[in-house]
Amino acid sequence: MNKLFYNCLLITMNEKEEIIPNGAIYIEGKKIAAIGTTSDLLARYPQAEKEDMQGKAVLPGFINLHTHTVLSALRGLADDCNSVKAVFGWMAYINEIVTPEESYHISSNALLELVKAGSTTVMENSANMEAVAQAMKESGLRSYLAAGKIHDYDLTPIRYGQFVQKKEIGESTLKAAMQLFENWHGKEEGRMQCVIYPHANDTCSPKLLRELKRISDHYKALVTVHFAQTTWEVERLRNAYHQTPAEFLIDVGLFNERLSGAHCIFIEEGDIDLMAQYGVTFINNCVINNKRGAIPHTHIALQKGVNVGLGTDNMFGDIIETLRYAISNMRIDIPDFKIPTPYQALKMATINGAKALNRSQELGSLEEGKLADLIMVDYMQPHLLPADKDNIVENLVYNGLGSDVFCNMVEGRIIYRKDQGTLWQEEEVMTTAQQTAEKIWQRLVPLVEN
Ligand SMILES: [Zn+2]
Repeated sequence: MNKLFYNCLLITMNEKEEIIPNGAIYIEGKKIAAIGTTSDLLARYPQAEKEDMQGKAVLPGFINLHTHTVLSALRGLADDCNSVKAVFGWMAYINEIVTPEESYHISSNALLELVKAGSTTVMENSANMEAVAQAMKESGLRSYLAAGKIHDYDLTPIRYGQFVQKKEIGESTLKAAMQLFENWHGKEEGRMQCVIYPHANDTCSPKLLRELKRISDHYKALVTVHFAQTTWEVERLRNAYHQTPAEFLIDVGLFNERLSGAHCIFIEEGDIDLMAQYGVTFINNCVINNKRGAIPHTHIALQKGVNVGLGTDNMFGDIIETLRYAISNMRIDIPDFKIPTPYQALKMATINGAKALNRSQELGSLEEGKLADLIMVDYMQPHLLPADKDNIVENLVYNGLGSDVFCNMVEGRIIYRKDQGTLWQEEEVMTTAQQTAEKIWQRLVPLVEN
């Protein structure tokens, strides 16, 4: 794309925290070529194709660090239960029975939601990742494919407190992960990336994790893991290894700046210190955590200088609403009505996400030379007015909705505009997802209830 958007309000998220009223942004190819005031850029690029964006705020696209799109098939089923029942009951079973074709259709619908609500980058893991990767490719999203859900403990007996190690599960999940790397890592001109994904600290043996450390070094790949997600995990590590989750991962060599830990609900303060020391990212999945009755101590992570990012996890995809949860979580937990500021919350979904991907030089803020991953929000609506540069971030964070997103752009390519739609036939995607879910439920519900 070569186009100049003008008369917009720019929330740059740069280091100076600049907000530019009556701003303009010039996109050239995949990158942001220029950013400034409307009068400045109209004078500099008189020949450029232009569009008046009056009433729109432009900001970096949301970097959503943790999703499981196929689990959106559990909407209305796995909402009202604790983490153990949800993870090792509903989710373990659906992951076993869902077919690649079903994963593709359910994921496509959930990705549609994520695109329309402003995520430009998504780190995703679901069952049948090859099929999900295809859906992600079609979505146009910047995609981080968490490869394999690698584990060598059988997941379903864990629900009954039984940890049964099976070498063959480790081998098959690792093989699937490596196949995904082979097929997708660096594809679509680098828009598709693979991430090493050990499922959780209590479902992988130290031997398997050491092997993953070797592979992540080989690919220089990011690693993501469910971290301090359940009391079971923390107790299991204490009983089996006399270690905290952070100590466990330090021991196997995975605890470094390439690692992000999802959830961090039952984390001890000493482990938060270790996250800061080793440069590990804390992924706050506050909406699902709250649904399970838990609040992670995210404010301590922020105070200690840990990089905190956001994820929507499963059954939900609106990052703007997640920002509100992130704030209310911390204020209930402390309580302090100034921590975090809406701006700090917005950083979690933008520049902090870029840091988690080790790509803050290219992503996460609107700056000349960075990749054109951005969204436009239509603030000419009753629930977002009055709006000016001094209250736009507060308005957006406290009152905005995912459906206020007007445009979603990844690497200069528009993957959604309210007046043009997405890259999909949306009706078909939604209808097929509904029909697919109904078929899954027929097989799933009896399994979980037995
Ligand atoms: Zn998860």
